[in-house]
Amino acid sequence: MTTKKKNNFYAGRLAPSPTGLLHLGHAATFWVAYRRALEHDGMLLLRNEDLDPQRSKFEFVEAMVEDLAWLGIAWKPPMVSQSERGALYRVAFEQLLETGFVYPCNCSRKDLARMMHAPHEDVDDEPVYDGRCRPVGDALARSLVPGMNYRFRVPDGEAVRFVDGNVGPQAFTGGVDFGDFLVWRKDGFPSYQLACVVDDAAMGITEVVRGADLLKSTARQILLQRALGLPGVSYFHTPLMVDEHGIRLAKRHDALAIRTLRQRGLSREDVLAMLG
Ligand code: GLU
Repeated sequence: MTTKKKNNFYAGRLAPSPTGLLHLGHAATFWVAYRRALEHDGMLLLRNEDLDPQRSKFEFVEAMVEDLAWLGIAWKPPMVSQSERGALYRVAFEQLLETGFVYPCNCSRKDLARMMHAPHEDVDDEPVYDGRCRPVGDALARSLVPGMNYRFRVPDGEAVRFVDGNVGPQAFTGGVDFGDFLVWRKDGFPSYQLACVVDDAAMGITEVVRGADLLKSTARQILLQRALGLPGVSYFHTPLMVDEHGIRLAKRHDALAIRTLRQRGLSREDVLAMLG
């Protein structure tokens, strides 16, 4: 028996949300994630980000597993599903609550929409929250008030820096590039940011490969890691794919689904050649 010696252990992940079919943009990112895990002689895990009960559908989970297999993107079972990990997120949220990093917010969707400065240029990201529910001084609630959303209080004026493996040094300033962000929803679910950080740590992920639309989310997640005392990870953000009109593929749900391309008779090689 031969044992491979691994000096720097590599664990990556694919983290699709089963709210639609995988399209070329996902395939491009997942292909890079797969190649990087291979190059590092590491492993690639699959996380089903099915937290949104309204939008997640099991048929899309089945479709993504099948499309990944068709593309030849292998991952190490078992698949992890976020909908089954509520208790883990709750523990992390309570830690944030007890250590004074979060506060309740009762702004409605309407309030938030009104707060947006129109026209909003940064379409890939949420608007900077104006902090109207932010407590003054240190008067943070340290126990859960049911029926409230909770936000993370970002350090105003502080730059969160990281060196991305693909796009190089990055810096995003709290209160300027991004504001106090949602960590816990009043319906009892964690936000994407919290679930992602908790899972990346629990799954032992060493590098996150994802689209460049999530660069500011990376800054938010670094703050959450620090607040929770979790280890940092490396990042590799992939360029976003746009169509011939410059429209992001994620915003088109039509002809560019992997499934549609397959049905049109394209081979795996044809599809991989389209990934750029
Ligand atoms: N489920 C998220 C998405 O599809 C994953 C983002 C991430 O990789 O952290 O955009």
